[in-house]
Amino acid sequence: MRRQISAPDYNLEDKNNELVASPPGGAGAAHEEAPRPPPPPAPRNGTSSKQGGLTIVRRSSSRGKTESSPPTDEQLDQLDLETEHLPAVDTPDACDKAALRLRYLLRQLNRGEIAVETLQNNLQYAAKVLEAVYIDETKITRHAEQPRVQPTTLHMRRLRTPCWARCSVEKPNEAKRLADEDDELSEVQPDAVPPEVREWLASTFTRQLATAKRKSDEKPKFRSVAHAIRAGIFVDRIYRRVTSTALMQFPQDVVRVLKTLDEWSFDVFALHEASLGSPIKYLGYDLLNRYGMIHKFKVQPTTLENFLSRIEEGYCKFHNPYHNNLHAADVAQTVHYMLCQTGLMNWLSDLEIFATLVAAIVHDFEHTGTTNNFHVMSGSDTALLYNDRAVLENHHISAAFRLLRDEENNILQNLSRDEFREFRTLVIDMVLATDMSFHFQQLKNMRSLLTLAEPSVDKSKAVSLVLHCCDISHPAKRWDLHHRWTMSLLDEFFLQGDKERELGLPFSPLCDRNNTLVAESQIGFIDFIVEPSMTVCADMLEYILGPLHSSTKTSTSTVKQDSINEESAGAETNTKFKIKKPWVACLMDNKKIWKEQATKDAEDRAKLEEEENGPPPTQPDE
Ligand code: AMP
Ligand code: ZN
Repeated sequence: MRRQISAPDYNLEDKNNELVASPPGGAGAAHEEAPRPPPPPAPRNGTSSKQGGLTIVRRSSSRGKTESSPPTDEQLDQLDLETEHLPAVDTPDACDKAALRLRYLLRQLNRGEIAVETLQNNLQYAAKVLEAVYIDETKITRHAEQPRVQPTTLHMRRLRTPCWARCSVEKPNEAKRLADEDDELSEVQPDAVPPEVREWLASTFTRQLATAKRKSDEKPKFRSVAHAIRAGIFVDRIYRRVTSTALMQFPQDVVRVLKTLDEWSFDVFALHEASLGSPIKYLGYDLLNRYGMIHKFKVQPTTLENFLSRIEEGYCKFHNPYHNNLHAADVAQTVHYMLCQTGLMNWLSDLEIFATLVAAIVHDFEHTGTTNNFHVMSGSDTALLYNDRAVLENHHISAAFRLLRDEENNILQNLSRDEFREFRTLVIDMVLATDMSFHFQQLKNMRSLLTLAEPSVDKSKAVSLVLHCCDISHPAKRWDLHHRWTMSLLDEFFLQGDKERELGLPFSPLCDRNNTLVAESQIGFIDFIVEPSMTVCADMLEYILGPLHSSTKTSTSTVKQDSINEESAGAETNTKFKIKKPWVACLMDNKKIWKEQATKDAEDRAKLEEEENGPPPTQPDE
């Protein structure tokens, strides 16, 4: 059935007058496409002309005709709105086609009727065209002496406004204002612009500002950017209205906690409480939305909700004190910190970010609360299945991908075959690298790579190291959080020790509840594992992100300014890029507390021994 939207139902000037007609197939159907189509033989509508390449899309008409002249009614009348045979979205022709279609849609909306399907298809296409606009930053002149990292897509990102905050961002009369206002870019509020357009705006517009004084005859260019931004806002608004009914609802308490999501010492325990035991569901949804993954990979909101709920259940299966849904949410949030606060997200493609976030979410899925060593020593079925190698990690990945085979949970159903393969490989690499037995090798490899003259850091290796560090990051968080995590982990270890005793197996390290030096073990864990890991990770991030930072210093960077420290290495422009490292102070504080605790514990033990055995024998020469 083709539904029609009449003009009064779709009045952008009236906030209360929401779009009443649902898209065909129900809420969220705007995302729907055939499940995982095979890769197309040639670029076509909705695809890019080349995979992962950099493209400057310029309107082909920008030189030939005045940009301020919109298409005539006659031109619009002749427009065929079919979307099957449109040019690839990252080609100049696509820009013209998309603009013409937006004009047409605008006219039809004002006039009266337009089919929902036509509206959706054409908006989808226009949105994809806008998303495909990248700026080729690799052509920026670099200092000759500056080491060049491997060619990389510079894609300065802004995270999306969380869906739970959108209602306060949208203003009822904005569409009218946008239609009427003067051609001033300064009037376009950054928060009102969809991220894809903001990226474009940030690089293109600010670069224009940075160049020498603009000549008066360049004004049309300036105007065309403003037009495009408005078109972007317009597309995003309509798209959101068509899909927003299906977005998950966030309880007020959850919203309150999620407002601090960008902080290093985010309180995931508070989220657990506020979400009534479902931190993954809300945090996972919020993160994938903020990074634009729901939109980019056409994830249906209900499918995402299903997937996250199943993952959450899997984490609760064995009622583990430590390896549970809270730990997964904690690691995912820490990965988010690394992505957004260091600027790592600007070095990664959408697919790599998607894979990294999902890897963090599933990395301990269905953890049994026992270690790999326990699985091997007790000869568990899982150890048998995976031949004693990375037993748990193999299970986490396999079980998560098995879940994705059910259509109702399959958040990857709209990925192309190539995208799916790349995503899967990345997730497998990352989760396998959380196996602690790989720790020293992983650190050693990265450390020696970074000593080379011009290291080329593999993306998969980089995100794997980041995930591994986030996985063991709680000793680098605020004391109250770290202490709680440690106690939970020890509870879990001691439960394993109880099982080992029952089975007549030797105790694994830290698993004997009567003979474990807690404070000392934590000092050792910080000194030998966590601190060196964070150091190598920071060195790696500073190395790979340095060139990105220096090439955009004059433009609007999406890396928050207060997240960057720059150390002046000379009087000139020679500055070394440094990321903010909130973990350094936390590690120091926590170690100090553990040391005090260790001293006290030693005194208590000595006292206890004295009570039991009497005073220690005096030395003969005393
Ligand atoms: P995962 O099991 O994937 O969470 O990997 C992290 C591993 O780091 C845990 O299994 C522990 O072996 C180790 N770990 C994390 N926190 C501590 C801690 N406070 N003390 C000792 N080992 C820890
Ligand atoms: Zn973990």
